Amino acid sequence: MAQKPRSPALTLIDKLPIEGSKVLIRVDFNVPLEDGEVADDSRIRAALPTIEHALDRGARVILCSHLGRPKGKPDPALSLRPAGSVLADLLRREVLLSETPVGDGPTRLARDLRDGQVLLLENLRFHPGETANDDGLAKALAALTDFYVNDAFGAAHRAHASTAGIAAHVRDKAAGFLMAKEVEALGRLLAAPREGFVAVLGGAKVSDKIGVLQKLTGKVDTLLIGGAMAYTFLAAQGHGVGKSKVEDGHLGTARDILANAKRRGVKVLLPVDHRCAATFDADAPVRNVTETDISDELMGLDIGDATAAAYGEALRDARTVFWNGPMGVFEFPNFAKGTRAVAAAIAASDAFSVVGGGDSVRAVNESGKADAIDHISTGGGASLEFIEGRELPGLTALGYRRSL
Ligand code: ADP
Ligand code: MG
Repeated sequence: MAQKPRSPALTLIDKLPIEGSKVLIRVDFNVPLEDGEVADDSRIRAALPTIEHALDRGARVILCSHLGRPKGKPDPALSLRPAGSVLADLLRREVLLSETPVGDGPTRLARDLRDGQVLLLENLRFHPGETANDDGLAKALAALTDFYVNDAFGAAHRAHASTAGIAAHVRDKAAGFLMAKEVEALGRLLAAPREGFVAVLGGAKVSDKIGVLQKLTGKVDTLLIGGAMAYTFLAAQGHGVGKSKVEDGHLGTARDILANAKRRGVKVLLPVDHRCAATFDADAPVRNVTETDISDELMGLDIGDATAAAYGEALRDARTVFWNGPMGVFEFPNFAKGTRAVAAAIAASDAFSVVGGGDSVRAVNESGKADAIDHISTGGGASLEFIEGRELPGLTALGYRRSL
């Protein structure tokens, strides 16, 4: 089973006297669904150490989570029922599901719960108070339980009723093991020495990642840039980028980041060749462009082989690696090669490696290299905000104070 890490800044669930008591655990069951089934159960599995710990200790377990964006009213397509049945299979025990997150039904189910039983509250965002951090909902959730545990790192960057407001109304609170593991791994990353620290950033937009780019420029000695983001940087340097995705409003941002990196002596590598196509299409014929500039009729959809080799070289002797954002349109098999090469290079290095971001994590899992990565963050937005140095309300509510 997963390790149970210790994070000095957080009180962990194993410090709470939960035997024979009710414990409400905020989990992150915001899983992708396909045809009404859970398409990827990693987030449910990641919550198991905490849930199993509570059950082993003889607690009565109440779980709550959000799923998708139901806009404050019930939406059967976003029920937690499929997640509940996956959990029941994994735990090999019955999981009760309430019809609403709070109200008479859940109150009765929680009251009648016996030691070792599990109740899953229906999608918290069926109630408008969740995202509004409404105190009434926070109190209603707190009234269901004796203890509160937050293990939903993926929602820790939100000040919602179940992640923030509730903490003021419970007798005692703690972090779950997943929360602690995330904080420990990302904290270790931020405390790592600059020497041998390589960050790989890619994905869709510079604008999503400005804070992280700026923060990492002060932390790393090498920055490898790929994905659509690279074309905004190349355009900012005056290169031809053809029809590639470029954020014209962020050419200045890209220039600032490059200038800042130069000032600090950070090496920045940008693509020197590309896999291109004439249209944004999975079946579009691949056109290999073996130079930095891309002609007007093409768009860059992946880094080329020479770029992948250079990035692999930079990663080979790295001591610390952070990766966020695919190197290309990895959803199209013809343009997944660069992303797979980077995953393989990180897996092959001896570095302490952390991958964050929803699509990046999916890409790593698909590459079959996940086991060779030290930490795969379950939180996309939360991991980026943590790295940026922003305060995460879900952690603050647990009494966490950043030591860095
Ligand atoms: P993460 O979820 O890991 O933070 P992002 O959401 O920022 O990553 O970016 C992932 C998306 O970026 C993917 O859908 C991928 O197709 C897209 N992408 C990557 N490279 C390109 C490119 N060259 N052109 C267009 N889209 C790209
Ligand atoms: Mg994404």
